Amino acid sequence: MNVLISSCGSGPGGLPILEDLQDLDGCLALVRADLNVPLRYPHGPDKPAVIADDFRIQKALPTMRWLTSQGARLRVCSHLGRPRGVVEGKYSLDPVKIRLQEIFPDIEVLENLRFDPGEEANSPETTRRLIAGCDLYINDAFGVCHRKHASIVGPPGFLPSVAGRLVVREVEMLSRVVHDPKGPFVLVLGGSKVSDKIALLDSLIKKVDTILIGGGMSFTFLKAQGIEIGQSIVDNASLEFCRSILKSNRTIVLPNDFRALSSDGELSSECGGKSPTGTGEVRIFKTALDSDWRGLDIGPETQQVFAAEIEKAGTVFWNGPMGVFEDRRFSKGTEAIGRAMASSKAFTVIGGGDSARAIRSLGLDEEIDHLSSGGGASLRFLEDATLPGIDALLKDGH
Ligand code: AMP
Repeated sequence: MNVLISSCGSGPGGLPILEDLQDLDGCLALVRADLNVPLRYPHGPDKPAVIADDFRIQKALPTMRWLTSQGARLRVCSHLGRPRGVVEGKYSLDPVKIRLQEIFPDIEVLENLRFDPGEEANSPETTRRLIAGCDLYINDAFGVCHRKHASIVGPPGFLPSVAGRLVVREVEMLSRVVHDPKGPFVLVLGGSKVSDKIALLDSLIKKVDTILIGGGMSFTFLKAQGIEIGQSIVDNASLEFCRSILKSNRTIVLPNDFRALSSDGELSSECGGKSPTGTGEVRIFKTALDSDWRGLDIGPETQQVFAAEIEKAGTVFWNGPMGVFEDRRFSKGTEAIGRAMASSKAFTVIGGGDSARAIRSLGLDEEIDHLSSGGGASLRFLEDATLPGIDALLKDGH
């Protein structure tokens, strides 16, 4: 069957999109979706799983509905969890298949892509098997577009290929941050490791006006300034990098107060289920920590300083929690940043992962301009202004 595709894509940056396709009636469309849903095992780990939250399925539906409205038949594929090339019943896509077949009775849903080692190894054999009999390919799996996997970068070499609705929206929103940020542009970074954010800081340092740094990574910056950080997490290999960033002529705001845990204390996750609330004493320190305390969240003054910067901003991009938010005693900083983002008039984007989870649990996701579906993918897009999966669609010769 001959699917036609316009020579120049009408999506952002010339990206080919669904509307560039013609004559879809009766053709078979391979849709690479992100159906990596959280599962529950209420009847035991060896019994069939139940979908715990179907938001990823809901988000994938508009692309599939548009294709079927044009008369296309669907072959859908996705990964689920990290089975690392081994078939494991608990990672089966069957629960997703059953749900999708209730909506599209004729849909073909392939088994978990990562049961095949060729998926992550980008094997041409795997690509050939996926596309067998298909007339076109749609990439709607933004969360894996930074990975050179067989289902992401392979099919555009063989089939007319376009981006699905979710990928187009991600590229539109993140391109606004990369290419056209309304100032002041405020970058909010948290999470545990500096090393994960080095490439991002390197590439954005000239574009941002202000960088707010919280979470575990802030302690490496504080140590680089000679501040006592007690038993807090530190990434010694990144100290030199932190010093160079601190010398740049950008405004870098570090925490000046902290919520810390005493040395005998344990986080709720460290108590092995013995204490769901965690143990030990929590105290607020100003400027520096005492030697046997662990800084686990930004303090109330820092919350206010960060919130004021977010309020003044024209664009805000946030990635990484401000503290160990999984333990309720250290979630206040992350919640405060979430609330400041939600009430800010700035163009607000959250780069997936823990920060997106935090904003959803606060019920504030509707107040954010864009909540990216891919943590790693959104950071890589900000670093490089493109991703391997997007490049493959742009270079598609069909
Ligand atoms: P990342 O994967 O680098 O985005 O980091 C997310 C993790 O950082 C979360 O699981 C947090 O618990 C952890 N985290 C945030 N702040 C701290 C901190 N001050 N000390 C240790 N871990 C932290």
